[in-house]
Amino acid sequence: RQGRLRALVSRPTRTRDGVEIRLQANLELAEDVELAKINGAHGVGLYRTEFLYMNRSDLPDEEEHLADYSAMLAALDGRPLTIRTLDLGVDKHCEALARPGSNVSNPALGLRAIRLCLKEPELFRPQVRAILRASALGPVRLMLPLVTSVHELDRALAIIAELKRQLDRDGLAYDDAMPVGAMIEVPSAALTARAIARRMDFLSIGTNDLIQYTLATDRLDDAVNDLFDPAHPAILRLIQLTIEAGRALNVPVGMCGEMAGDPRFTRLLLGMGLREFSMQPGALLDIKEILLDSDVGALARRAERLFAQIDELDSSDLLSAFESV
Ligand code: PEP
Ligand code: MG
Repeated sequence: RQGRLRALVSRPTRTRDGVEIRLQANLELAEDVELAKINGAHGVGLYRTEFLYMNRSDLPDEEEHLADYSAMLAALDGRPLTIRTLDLGVDKHCEALARPGSNVSNPALGLRAIRLCLKEPELFRPQVRAILRASALGPVRLMLPLVTSVHELDRALAIIAELKRQLDRDGLAYDDAMPVGAMIEVPSAALTARAIARRMDFLSIGTNDLIQYTLATDRLDDAVNDLFDPAHPAILRLIQLTIEAGRALNVPVGMCGEMAGDPRFTRLLLGMGLREFSMQPGALLDIKEILLDSDVGALARRAERLFAQIDELDSSDLLSAFESV
C-alpha cells in the first residue's frame, strides 16, 4: 500500500472528471517542510507559528521570525507559504505571556489569537513586519486566526497598511500584493462569510475550532469526544455558507482543520464544492488517492439532494450516502 501511494506523488491532482484540486500541508515546525514535499504538497496551507513562542522565556523578535520564514521559503522552492499569525491561548501556551488573568473560567472564549494580537500590538507588529518582509523573498500569504467579526479584520488590515508605510520609510522590501486571508473557525465568521470575503483575499475553514465553538464541545476533553462530530448538520451548513460566500465573491476557500485530512469526509467535501485541502503531510497521499478516483459532478448532485434534508441526517447516513457515488 505504501508503494502504491508513493506512485501517486507525480500524478496530477485532478479528479476523474478533470477538476483540479489543491493539496497543501499543515506545518508546525520548519523541519517538516521535507515531509510535505515528499508527499507532493502544492504548498503550505497553514504554518502554525506558535512554536516560535513556546518553550522559552522571551519573545521572538522580527529578525528571528524572518529567519524562520525565509528558511522555510527556501526549502519550499517556490511553493506558496501561508503563515498564520500568532494563535496563542488555551491549547497553545507561551511562558513569556503567562499572566495573572489567564486562569479565567472559559479560556477558549477569552483573550487569544487575533484578539490578543489586536489588544497587544507590540506582540503582533514584529511578526507582521517579518511576514511582509518574507513576502519579498517568495510567495507568502498571511492568515488571521479566530476572527469573529469584520471589525477585527478592519483593524488588522489597518495595522498591516501602517507597517507597509513603515517598511517603505525603512527602505525594506515587501510584496504590496501579498494575500491576506482569514480563518473561518467560529460560527459568527461562517455566518458573515460574505462580509469577510469582501475584505479578504482568501478564506480557510478551521474545523477543529469551528466544531468546538458550534457544538459547544471542548476539542481537548475526552469526556465529550463522541459529540465532536465534523458531519453534524450544523457544521456542514456553516461550511456550505463559507464555500458559497467564496464562490459568490470569487475568493478562494480552503480547509485546514483536521476534517480536510480525514478520508471519511473527502467525497462529501468535494461534493460540497471544496477545492483546496490542507492537512498534516502524512495524510496527503491518502486523500489524493480518493480524489483521483472521485467524480465531482456526481458528488455535487448527491450533495445537493442530501442538503435538502440535511437537518434530519446524522453523520453515518450522510457518509454512507457518499460511499456509493
Ligand atoms: C482549526 O481550528 O481547525 C485549525 C486548523 O487551527 P488549530 O488546530 O491550530 O486551532
Ligand atoms: Mg483553530
